Amino acid sequence: MSSGTNGGSVHAGPQDGGPPAQELRADVVVVGFGAAGACAALEAVAAGCRVLVLDRFTGGGATALSGGIVYAGGGTPQQQAAGVSDSAEAMLGYLRTEVGDVVPAATLREFCDGSVAMLAWLESHGVPFEGSLCPDKTSYPTNRHYLYYSGSEASARAAAQPAPRGHRTRGRGTSGGVLFARLAAATRRSGAQVVPQTAAVRLITDDGRVTGVECRSLRGAPWWARTAHRVLYRLARKPYLYVPKLGRLMHRPVSWLELRYGKALRVGATCGVVIAAGGFGANRQMLRAHAPSARGGLPLATPGDDGSGIRLGTGAGGAVALLDRVSVWRFLTPPPALLRGVLVDRDGARICDESRYGAAIGDAIIARRGQAWLLADQATIGQARRQVRSTTLWFQRLQAWYMLAFGRVAADTVAGVAARAGVDADGLAATVAAYNATATAGSADPLGKPADLLRPVDQPPFSLIDVSIRPRLMHPAPVLTLGGLVADPGTGQVLRDDGMPVPGLYAAGRSAVGLCSRSYVSGLSIADCVFSGRRAGRHAAAARPGAGTLSSRASFSSCGHCAGGYGSAGWSTSLTWSVCSTGRTGHGFRCRPGSAR
Ligand SMILES: Cc1cc2nc3c(=O)[nH]c(=O)nc-3n(C[C@H](O)[C@H](O)[C@H](O)COP(=O)(O)OP(=O)(O)OC[C@H]3O[C@@H](n4cnc5c(N)ncnc54)[C@H](O)[C@@H]3O)c2cc1C
Repeated sequence: MSSGTNGGSVHAGPQDGGPPAQELRADVVVVGFGAAGACAALEAVAAGCRVLVLDRFTGGGATALSGGIVYAGGGTPQQQAAGVSDSAEAMLGYLRTEVGDVVPAATLREFCDGSVAMLAWLESHGVPFEGSLCPDKTSYPTNRHYLYYSGSEASARAAAQPAPRGHRTRGRGTSGGVLFARLAAATRRSGAQVVPQTAAVRLITDDGRVTGVECRSLRGAPWWARTAHRVLYRLARKPYLYVPKLGRLMHRPVSWLELRYGKALRVGATCGVVIAAGGFGANRQMLRAHAPSARGGLPLATPGDDGSGIRLGTGAGGAVALLDRVSVWRFLTPPPALLRGVLVDRDGARICDESRYGAAIGDAIIARRGQAWLLADQATIGQARRQVRSTTLWFQRLQAWYMLAFGRVAADTVAGVAARAGVDADGLAATVAAYNATATAGSADPLGKPADLLRPVDQPPFSLIDVSIRPRLMHPAPVLTLGGLVADPGTGQVLRDDGMPVPGLYAAGRSAVGLCSRSYVSGLSIADCVFSGRRAGRHAAAARPGAGTLSSRASFSSCGHCAGGYGSAGWSTSLTWSVCSTGRTGHGFRCRPGSAR
């Protein structure tokens, strides 16, 4: 099915004289049943719409395989239970350093101001959270903890008071499965119709307005073909994630079943279509074209992340942005003791504050041609070894042992270990001298590492752990695509290159540019899926005759480039888009020069 997903759009009339396709109809049609799709559906149903959700497989997508972390703050009940003080202002101050101007300042403020309510909304649909605070800096907390510092908050302490905002869905192991199961159950309970094993292949348009979706579906296929498709997809999902070559091989029969038994299905949408079909991490051609620097990484993707959602939108005239932005993760912890190490490049020069979030470290390593080593002394390695059991889940344990065993070389001197790793010895000696002088004097680290993590690296033997980004089964660097269709920051409507909306078309989650499209920290993608999914669902529903108008707070606020307002003077069925006095172009919106404010 999706192998035939070619984007483009077809006119609403009868197609190519073949047998008539089956027809379904709803007010709002959602393409993709992951976090963004489920949230869009829930909001559209709540607004009184008949909603139909399509998924190429059985739903869940990357969301169900994820860690289930949701970035939230501003004083959530979980933060309060953990005795943590936080405010929307502090959250905004920190996220500004990560999000930059990929969304207007007003949109980011709306997200932060609404964060406590967003988490409560998820809880009201059955998603459980808990305020057990993780004492360590980690890539993912163990089953004892569900709240942690999931970004680079401590490194950015000059910008805002740090607070732990990674809210992990309560559930053992990687708990994205629980998050999706609860959202899926709520969606089904709400009355939305979920149509699985149905891939959207083209949008149907009428006079420029998107009025439906043309699909290939296994609805009429023999029961055994549907069962085999479901079971084989499920079996291939995890290998696809961890050993992509094997996963692709296992996925072949799934695609074959789709091609052999898939039948045309046309789904009409009275109010609008929401594209929530994930990113393009599984599309090697797109990755090569847009993000060649990520080639050493391991795409965090399901077969559904083939870019078909993005292509559906471009086929109907939608613009894309930030396809070159991918998040490449290189976590140095757990075990937390490794934060006392010094991250260097091939010249022996220090790369960045080692306590930053894994995606920021990944970015910094990619900028050094993907090569990096962590220098640690015997005291650090010994402490790290003792911490492995208590600070890791199984997948982190494998990587931690790899780093501490096979992934490192050691020698009695700094010069010796540099020679063994192929790192410039003079450069490394100079770096260690400067680092130790700062730590001994108790001065501020020039790269911003928190004082409690600064300790001289002076106890031989010394180790250099290879943390370079290249394909490695035991120590992969996960890659997440961040760019997508350009969506109106107030409504989620897909925008064309000229900044005008494609009528009837919305996008959310990783099919669209969103809050995490410049820089990802753990939890920000799912939080954006919830934020953008709900926004798209609400605004698509507002196109229902008699639904009245829906105002968008973001539409009335500063665009972030000029002091004036951008956007509409109120949202009704058609959006009026205007103005930025500077004439600058943002990624999530287009400021048009010369328009009146
Ligand atoms: C292992 C892992 C861990 C992660 N951990 C976290 C985390 O803890 N926190 C966080 O914020 N982010 C995390 N991420 C990233 C995050 O999970 C995803 O970015 C996010 O869930 C994407 O949600 P979505 O709704 O946009 O897409 P998805 O959840 O991928 O859903 C898209 C759905 O669309 C369907 N689909 C695709 N194409 C079509 C089509 N043509 N027609 C019909 N259906 C289609 C797919 O089958 C899929 O079910 C993680 C990702 C992975 C893989």
